[in-house]
Amino acid sequence: MSSQAWINLAYLAASMLFIVAFKLMTGPRTAVKGNYLGAAGMAIALIAACCEGPVVERLRAVGSGGLVMVGIAAAIGSVIGAWMALKYPMTGMPQMVALLNGFGGAASTLVAGAELWNMTAAAKSDAPAVAGLAAANLAPWTQFAIATALTGLIGAVTFWGSFVAFAKLEELPRFKQAWTNPNRHWINLGLAVVTLLLIWGLCIYPRSVLLYWLLVVVGSVFGCTLTMPIGGADMPVVICLLNSYSGLAAAAAGFVIDNSVLVIAGSLVGASGLILTAIMCKAMNRSLVGVLFGGLGTTTAANADDVYAGKVKSASAEEIAMVLEGASRVVIVPGYGLAVAQAQHAVRELATALEKRGTTVEYAIHPVAGRMPGHMNVLLAEADIAYEKLREMDDINPTFPETDVAIVIGANDVVNPAARTDPKCPIAGMPILDVDKAKTVVVVKRSLSPGFAGIPNPLFAADNTLMYFADGKKAILDLTAALQKG
Ligand code: NDP
Repeated sequence: MSSQAWINLAYLAASMLFIVAFKLMTGPRTAVKGNYLGAAGMAIALIAACCEGPVVERLRAVGSGGLVMVGIAAAIGSVIGAWMALKYPMTGMPQMVALLNGFGGAASTLVAGAELWNMTAAAKSDAPAVAGLAAANLAPWTQFAIATALTGLIGAVTFWGSFVAFAKLEELPRFKQAWTNPNRHWINLGLAVVTLLLIWGLCIYPRSVLLYWLLVVVGSVFGCTLTMPIGGADMPVVICLLNSYSGLAAAAAGFVIDNSVLVIAGSLVGASGLILTAIMCKAMNRSLVGVLFGGLGTTTAANADDVYAGKVKSASAEEIAMVLEGASRVVIVPGYGLAVAQAQHAVRELATALEKRGTTVEYAIHPVAGRMPGHMNVLLAEADIAYEKLREMDDINPTFPETDVAIVIGANDVVNPAARTDPKCPIAGMPILDVDKAKTVVVVKRSLSPGFAGIPNPLFAADNTLMYFADGKKAILDLTAALQKG
């Protein structure tokens, strides 16, 4: 068998591993195995790619220095990747995912730029042959130009869009507020027109390195101006979309360098990202067009003093334990604060204590709770909470009127009734968990400060709500102790 046949076989194996990995990652029990399989597939694809004829030839052409540089770059990348994976806490994962998406986009842009440079240099040094090919058979050059242009554009949008998303998730002061320049739609329209002109220019002059990098610059600005207006609670949709873009950029880069495994892996990421975007849009009750053209979540909300003044009731662990003692059905609603407090194990202990008293305990999962899709599922699975007890929003919402106590731990936006009642607030129209319909609501958080969307929550001032101000983990441990004493 030829060496290329072995390489193709390795690509096939890697692609199959990616597909199986995706399948396994759909369930919390098999997700870790899926992750390992995906990593193994990537390792196989990388080794096979390094053995490809053109890659070997290029490495030979630069001499041993080139090989050393590739090795050093790979070592630096591996150390940074491992360091970040170890250093970042679970609560910082969304930011890390944003960075990874961004670097994926940047890598695709650089690969396409380098390939264009190589092709152009080869065409210049062997002018008659390549010019003849281009004249006699323009289609391959046009295809190459389109693939290169799309890679550069999508990669640049992904890189800069992901960095803005990172800054928003980090809640950096300058980025926290959405960009509300009234001319932003005109700016984006102008950028879109320039982008189309540059792509058209590249199709006419497919060897123009200058046009390519101009397109990358315009794409970079576009990435920022498309992401900066997105504010409040609409970030999950953007994160998924950028994830999809990073895959599409990789797939387009696969066409540029004629690498089948890159096309397959990129398409898988692109398609799954788009599916997740559609799921998130549904969860947030947003249209994809609205998100694509930005400007969502930039409306105003009520004043906190008006919402809370004189209406908030706080309670102690002992008082809440007394309420729980008489409950036959309790629903626990986890949110981002649960992840910050790392209270998942304490929550399981509380649930066990309640179940020993004969209380039914279930968990209500909002699709955008936390800071990444599936955040709450992962967190609760970490504490070995049975997956069957986790109920999705549409499934559990009708049961809240029959719920004696809803315990909201570190959740805010996903239980904010303003989404239903205040058409001017940034989360207007977003489906929420209807905890306010439970007989009693206990909200565990440290203060009255807002959630990610930055708006007050009328639930905290509702007649049937008791606020328990404390760190999530300490609160639940104290509550369990009080319950066991009673
Ligand atoms: P929120 O961000 O709305 O609220 C979290 C709450 O947790 C805060 O109000 C905070 O209040 C509390 N908190 C923080 N630390 C602790 C702690 N140690 N102990 C107890 N409470 C704590 O979270 P939700 O999960 O309700 O909503 C998620 C939000 O994030 C939505 O707006 C969503 O759109 C957005 N988002 C989601 C993404 C996703 O993919 N899931 C991605 C990006 C954004 P306090 O400081 O008073 O304690």
